[in-house]
Amino acid sequence: TVVTRFAPSPTGFLHIGGARTALFNWLYARGRGGRFLLRIEDTDRARSTPEATQAILDGMAWLGLAHDGEVISQNARAERHRAVALELLDKGEAYKCFASQDEIEAFREAARAEGRSTLFQSPWRDADPASHPDAPHVIRIKAPRDGATVIRDEVQGDVTIRNDQLDDMVLLRSDGSPVYMLAVAVDDHDMGVTHVIRGDDHLNNAARQMLIYRAMGWPLPVYAHIPLIHGPDGKKLSKRHGALGVDEYHKMGYPAAGMRNYLARLGWSHGDDEFFSDEQALEWFDIKGIGKSPARFDVKKLENLCGQHIASTPDAALLHELHGFLAVTGQPPLSPAKSALMEQAMHCLKERAKTFPELLEKAEFVLADRPISPDQKAAAQLDDVSRRILKELTPHLQNASWTRDELEAEAMQFAESKDMKFGKLAGPLRAALAGRSVTPSVFDMMIVLGRDETIARLNDAAC
Ligand code: GLU
Repeated sequence: TVVTRFAPSPTGFLHIGGARTALFNWLYARGRGGRFLLRIEDTDRARSTPEATQAILDGMAWLGLAHDGEVISQNARAERHRAVALELLDKGEAYKCFASQDEIEAFREAARAEGRSTLFQSPWRDADPASHPDAPHVIRIKAPRDGATVIRDEVQGDVTIRNDQLDDMVLLRSDGSPVYMLAVAVDDHDMGVTHVIRGDDHLNNAARQMLIYRAMGWPLPVYAHIPLIHGPDGKKLSKRHGALGVDEYHKMGYPAAGMRNYLARLGWSHGDDEFFSDEQALEWFDIKGIGKSPARFDVKKLENLCGQHIASTPDAALLHELHGFLAVTGQPPLSPAKSALMEQAMHCLKERAKTFPELLEKAEFVLADRPISPDQKAAAQLDDVSRRILKELTPHLQNASWTRDELEAEAMQFAESKDMKFGKLAGPLRAALAGRSVTPSVFDMMIVLGRDETIARLNDAAC
């Protein structure tokens, strides 16, 4: 079965690129009945923080990218990494190197002067262990010196790296601590990872990690190195482009489904399909659809997809997500009564809303309580003439059967009898019912509010 993993370093927030890598791995595994694992690469003790780990977990939870099994801490596996290095030493695939920093520097300088490769070639590689001093040393892998290492990458194609460009990298430092490259290879092997899908900034690392696999006689995983994400200007995506942690997108009120859809399209495509469901993405996602050139981050496209997802999400699910949005932005929760009203109103709130703040803006008629205090624009709609008209209109509505069609017919008839356009009525009605000038349709609001509340608000505003 397929096993993928997301292996972030907990040194900052979960950024867009990381979230996309997580999503691709999730889609690939979940779409194939496989497993999606999470490994926190916390070996850099100085830069790793528990807050960053939490931010990664929160970001993944928001995006609905559940991982299988326990969260694996790379740092906690140091003993195992060390054991593999010692095993390689035993097998003669690695050796103790006693060269000091000064000696290595001297080697490099001489190589530079003679125009040779400055990659360090240790004199200890073939030394007889009997001649080893009892002194501090590192353990280096015996990398092949001839030939080439070919990374058969599913995205990049065959990438050939000449072996004389790979040095005998250190596996264990002189204090016995394992290096990152060893940790990644051992963890991926031990976790049974079959597909390594990650940013192409790790492509060169693959060649080094492959050396460890080969030396241990382990079968290689499939590699897929995906191009990094660029900003609209074609340069590597950075904060300058507004590239934020995914938590910021959560706080800006983008729906998770829209974010997932957008992230999936960042570097992957399925024909001309732009808007799709999770089910479709899971069915369609394949490494073949990943492009070789960097995708560009485009907020307009994100918003467009988010709008479509809000429109197509069932009302109850949308309400549930709205609660999450209020919580993450530190806003007070909705009371049960408002929550129920909100669900009834959802169908008319979600049209054309691209974010939850946009949806909430239109929800003012639900959220506000009597007496409604109109904002400036709405207040301007409630001049004496309009208020008198509302007063005349109210009994007509009060006696109507409370359906959208009936209410509309009553209002139209009333407008006609006054020889005014219905548009003239709409502004004062919005102002009276919502205290706002941008609202759902006045009849939708009346239906959601019900007869008593509607009439009460109209009476408040009328004179
Ligand atoms: N920890 C690495 C990163 O956050 C990823 C390593 C990997 O996927 O192999 O960039």
